[in-house]
Amino acid sequence: MQIAVLGAGVIGLASAYYLNRAGHQVIVIDRHGEVAAETSLGNGGQLSYSYVAPLAGPGILSKLPTWLARRDSPVRFRPSVSAEQWLWCLKFALACTNRRSNLTTRELLSLSFASRALMHQFLRDEPTLDFDFQHSGKLVLHRDADAMRGAIDLLDFQRSLGCEQEALSAAECVALEPALADVRERIVGGIYTRSEDTADCHRFSTGLEAILRARGVQFSMNTHIDALDVAKGGHIVAHGGGRALDADHIVVATGASATHLLQPLGLHVPVYPLKGYSLTYPLGPQAIAPTLSVTDFARKVVYARLGDRLRVAGMADLDGYSLKPDPSRIAALRAEAATLFPQVVAGHADATEWTGLRPATPRGAPIIGPTRFPNLWLNIGHGALGFTLASGSAALLTGWIDGKPDPSLSSLFTLTR
Ligand SMILES: Cc1cc2nc3c(=O)[nH]c(=O)nc-3n(C[C@H](O)[C@H](O)[C@H](O)COP(=O)(O)OP(=O)(O)OC[C@H]3O[C@@H](n4cnc5c(N)ncnc54)[C@H](O)[C@@H]3O)c2cc1C
Repeated sequence: MQIAVLGAGVIGLASAYYLNRAGHQVIVIDRHGEVAAETSLGNGGQLSYSYVAPLAGPGILSKLPTWLARRDSPVRFRPSVSAEQWLWCLKFALACTNRRSNLTTRELLSLSFASRALMHQFLRDEPTLDFDFQHSGKLVLHRDADAMRGAIDLLDFQRSLGCEQEALSAAECVALEPALADVRERIVGGIYTRSEDTADCHRFSTGLEAILRARGVQFSMNTHIDALDVAKGGHIVAHGGGRALDADHIVVATGASATHLLQPLGLHVPVYPLKGYSLTYPLGPQAIAPTLSVTDFARKVVYARLGDRLRVAGMADLDGYSLKPDPSRIAALRAEAATLFPQVVAGHADATEWTGLRPATPRGAPIIGPTRFPNLWLNIGHGALGFTLASGSAALLTGWIDGKPDPSLSSLFTLTR
């Protein structure tokens, strides 16, 4: 079958990979000249299979007033007149229950474990592709005793879902990750997960593009999809680059832009941008930088070593679709990095700054699967986990299009939920 994948971010490219391997003729269409030019460009580099709990959790609403009052807080909300934003916030608030959050965590873990197995298979299938992949392991640091106790309480729940994690004292954290030696006094402990990976999402995406081109997948770059129209029998045709792009099936993988593309069809998907930032520090040969993936739990900042660079990412700003960076947020991220890894940051005013829009759903689960239009499929809304979940989401979608949906996953991520 001929399948058009709209969007050449990590989700669209992974979709193209699994569809092509299933024997389909695939064309990938994107408005940019290069793949992964938007949110898949500078993300945190975490393949965070065990840390998928949604932002919408029972503790979050009580933290919001403090966070919203601080300019350097991890989450920020800039109210607008947009009904779309307020509706998203309402749905987010309704998802902040224990029951909902636990259910979403279970669902996402199924998808992330499937993604981990597929990523490891991908590494065996494509052994020459270098995208700074490391079986790094992950250390989530806690700065206060209450938070550490809460994390220890969660260990049993996480273990019951298949995560292998252990609680470490501050001294054990430093023994495992010596780059934390300078901040030994600031941390009370951490949770270590051996099975987490890190990699460069942009290098993964450009590598995938090369593999796809070699396998005969077509690319129509610099092609903006202006509209999706309904033709005879409810068949959807995409319009872009001055022509109608007809295909047996169309997969929408346009990240944070999906909402506006789908709205005219009467498909109201709750995907809204959560703006984030990253900094990439070059590392000299003698740099004292982490080799483990590190998360600063209180500040919601992640650190990943990507070859000879340190990627620092964080901040979640609900302030619309603009990609304009806010200098105060960049400064706050720089200050976080300087606190935890002063030796990396010292003398590196030249870190590369980046801003991206997480395609976030209120309850934190992506929307993957069919729509009421027979040839239109969605693979959107991966929020803060798009790199982590890309392989599983793409394989799930491929199974669905082929009429062989994975029974353990296919009921979880449909538009109807
Ligand atoms: C600061 C930050 C840190 C993050 N850290 C991590 C992390 O550590 N681990 C992780 O798993 N995830 C992380 N994420 C999330 C992850 O980056 C995203 O979930 C993922 O990149 C989304 O991929 P996507 O393909 O859906 O969207 P995108 O990468 O944005 O791709 C969508 C593509 O669609 C194209 N497009 C859109 N509209 C149209 C149109 N009308 N016509 C043609 N083309 C169109 C765009 O040009 C774009 O190329 C992070 C995100 C941010 C912002």
